[in-house]
Amino acid sequence: MEERHRPMNSLLKTACNSVLLMPLAGLLYAQAAHSVPKQPFGKVDGETVYLYTLKNASGMEVTITNYGGTLTSVKAPDRQKKFDDVVLGFDNVDGYTQKLNTAYFGAIIGRYGNRIANGTFTLDGHTYHIPINDGPNALHGGTKGFNAHIWEAKEVSSEYGPGVELHYVSPDGQEGFPGTLNVTVRYSLGAKNELRIDYTATTDKDTVLNLTNHSYFNLSGAGSATALNHLVTLVADKFTPINSTLIPTGAIQNVAGTPLDFRKATRVGERINDKYQQLIYAKGYDHNFVLNSPGNLNAMAAKVEDPASGRVMEVFTTQPGIQFYTGNFLDGKIHGIGGAYRYRSALCFETQHFPDSPNHPNFPSTVLRPGQTFHSTTIYRFSTE
Ligand code: BGC
Repeated sequence: MEERHRPMNSLLKTACNSVLLMPLAGLLYAQAAHSVPKQPFGKVDGETVYLYTLKNASGMEVTITNYGGTLTSVKAPDRQKKFDDVVLGFDNVDGYTQKLNTAYFGAIIGRYGNRIANGTFTLDGHTYHIPINDGPNALHGGTKGFNAHIWEAKEVSSEYGPGVELHYVSPDGQEGFPGTLNVTVRYSLGAKNELRIDYTATTDKDTVLNLTNHSYFNLSGAGSATALNHLVTLVADKFTPINSTLIPTGAIQNVAGTPLDFRKATRVGERINDKYQQLIYAKGYDHNFVLNSPGNLNAMAAKVEDPASGRVMEVFTTQPGIQFYTGNFLDGKIHGIGGAYRYRSALCFETQHFPDSPNHPNFPSTVLRPGQTFHSTTIYRFSTE
């Protein structure tokens, strides 16, 4: 029935009802805006794992599974407001657990991100051995790192936006590391398209830790053939050079005059094939950059721009370093949501402490002692230009 034909008292009733219902609707909306839908994402060793979806009012959407605390998708708008998934990932947990997957797509890395030389370090006079899983070295926490465990998860909501909080207790001696490590990682999605990751950890014995997230970004959309046309800025005057097994030599070298100088936005592909020993060792970029403003979450650490889509991602972090990795070990054999994940088709910006720090007293310390709480925060902020 058309409004003008309705009897007056019925119109009045409708008006009164909407006045009464409006605050309730507002409340429901506020709850809906911060609710975090959860759905099954498959099974690991018979246990169901879940996928949590964070959404904001501008339509951005990210999903996280409690298997490995993994970020599985990030849907961000391009300059035409078209949303695309900009991280490499899978639509079922089986993609992450398959044998072929040695890339750590989107996962939380721990207890120690990147390499420990010969899987060995000494702390307080004790020598510890971590399983070797990358040439002669231990990579990303040993044979079964934090990326391959099921985390406890709960939805949370803060003034920042909707979030999911993941919790994992790594037992004393796991993968050879000392101390029971209690780790919490919270992902939140802000109103201005900022994906924020907060890490905290405590221990009951002296230990070392280096936590990061291992997302692979392609701002043209996951599955795009290359990431070499992205422009990258790294706010780092220095980097830590590596040897042939990608272990830092211990030196801290100026980027000036090398193909690792990204202080001005530069196309990733421009110098990646230069005959420069550091690039030859790593088959491209796979280096720790020493950030100019460690500890300052307000100072931009890195920026990526995709001229094709107009998407931009800025990275902010409290960590002292960024491992900039250009997907040199991707080979197209793995197929995910976006298709084949090919050689150099995505970029990682792993905010962290320096690789192999336990063996380099001149690097910022990665030691955590009982009574201390480790905190770090990283923000990936998406926009367009
Ligand atoms: C490392 C690479 C490694 C990749 C996947 C990165 O953090 O720096 O060398 O191949 O992770 O494991």
